[in-house]
Amino acid sequence: MHYETIIGLEIHLELQTSSKLFCGCSTSFGQEANTNCCPVCLGLPGTLPVFNKRAIELAVTAALALNSDIQLQSRFDRKNYYYPDLPKAYQISQYEQPLAKGGYLEVEFESGLRRINLERVHLEEEAGKLIHAGDSIFGADYSLVDYNRTGIPLLEIVTAPDIRSGSEARKFLETLRSILLYSGASDCKMEEGSLRCDANISLRPVGSQGYGVKAEVKNMNSFRAVETALYYEAKRQEKILAGGGTVIQQTCHWDEAEKITIPIRSKEGSSDYRYFPEPDLLPLTLDKDFISRIAESLPEMPGKRRARMAEHYGLGESELDIFIENRPLADFFEAAAEKYDDYKNLANWVQGDFLYQLRENDKKPEEIKPELFVELLTLLEKGQINRPVAKELLAEMIQNGSSPKELVEEKGLGRIAGGEKLIPLIEQVIAENPDAVENYRQGKEKAITFLVGRVMALTKGRADPGELNKLLREKISQQ
Ligand SMILES: [Zn+2]
Repeated sequence: MHYETIIGLEIHLELQTSSKLFCGCSTSFGQEANTNCCPVCLGLPGTLPVFNKRAIELAVTAALALNSDIQLQSRFDRKNYYYPDLPKAYQISQYEQPLAKGGYLEVEFESGLRRINLERVHLEEEAGKLIHAGDSIFGADYSLVDYNRTGIPLLEIVTAPDIRSGSEARKFLETLRSILLYSGASDCKMEEGSLRCDANISLRPVGSQGYGVKAEVKNMNSFRAVETALYYEAKRQEKILAGGGTVIQQTCHWDEAEKITIPIRSKEGSSDYRYFPEPDLLPLTLDKDFISRIAESLPEMPGKRRARMAEHYGLGESELDIFIENRPLADFFEAAAEKYDDYKNLANWVQGDFLYQLRENDKKPEEIKPELFVELLTLLEKGQINRPVAKELLAEMIQNGSSPKELVEEKGLGRIAGGEKLIPLIEQVIAENPDAVENYRQGKEKAITFLVGRVMALTKGRADPGELNKLLREKISQQ
């Protein structure tokens, strides 16, 4: 019998706020354990949660970017369970009335473009982080808990069971990440846990309509891990079903080192959580203006931008990949392209030396004025400076925001061209290096490169090597 794999994903996304969902504690990553927490984070008696408006704006932004239907009224519930990463013994989440319902993403799979539907998008608070002493959760001598993460605003995105394989799950997540990054709602750093994913996976005989018993797979910490884990889990279930057995509904832990899924507990149903309305918070009521203001401020989404940039600038796939991955860089390119129309050359510089210098100097594209960059490229194009000088000026422009034109004047970096200026320098080098000249005469081509280098050094890199090469050969042959 052939089986079809049915996958639904639950994605947890940390929203990019500077303070937590219900208190003023900082959300900054990598701080010393338990330094970003207060009595509200810990749910101590007498404390009350207070909404963070920014978190709601970002949640609405993300939900709109995912075509989800924002509910004018939603409500918070207590999800009761005891786990040491949530010291209150409940999590404030949304259950019956989520922030947004439905939604979809268009994903370009190998088999073509397909729509993956979403069931809901809701807000909840993040839990703390358990640190297990030992290699893994199994067999740890003890565990420590860091409450810095507790209370960071979290968006849960639940898909319909529309995904059919591990590789589709990966492609979906890559598309989702790119949209969420564009929306600015989250930094989506999987390695820092701000984007995480659990998967529900079951098998059914091809052609049948019902659903099989599903397992939930957790702890997949990269896109690659999602793909491998789901592939493994599908195989595991297939073996059980093919042998006439039944799959048990359970939660599995993906063991990255062993590349296997390990059952950790039988899966809880929602009734196990004894949800009830959170008595300390009013229902969340949004007005239509608030939602439409956010909708208007949404940037163009990656799929559309890619198509438009391909059409308008004639860029290739690999150039588009880099721009779609890096929205600020694409914004910089487009701002510069308004004043500079050799798009291909511009893209090469922006993705090459410009990006390199940004990283070297720990700067972001938005910190640099596109006009200055255009000024630099124009100087180069008009032959007023050469390439090495352009690179030097670029570095200085990025470090200090200085104008390349002014730098050329200040430093006398303009290009040295023409026999009148270069011949005296060439004569000097010929006189100083008789051996190299002799070698060149005997047919050693390397000698000319050496001599060009000497003259270039005298001009401090401001001459054109091609021109020097030609003039040098002429001069030597005349002697
Ligand atoms: Zn706090």
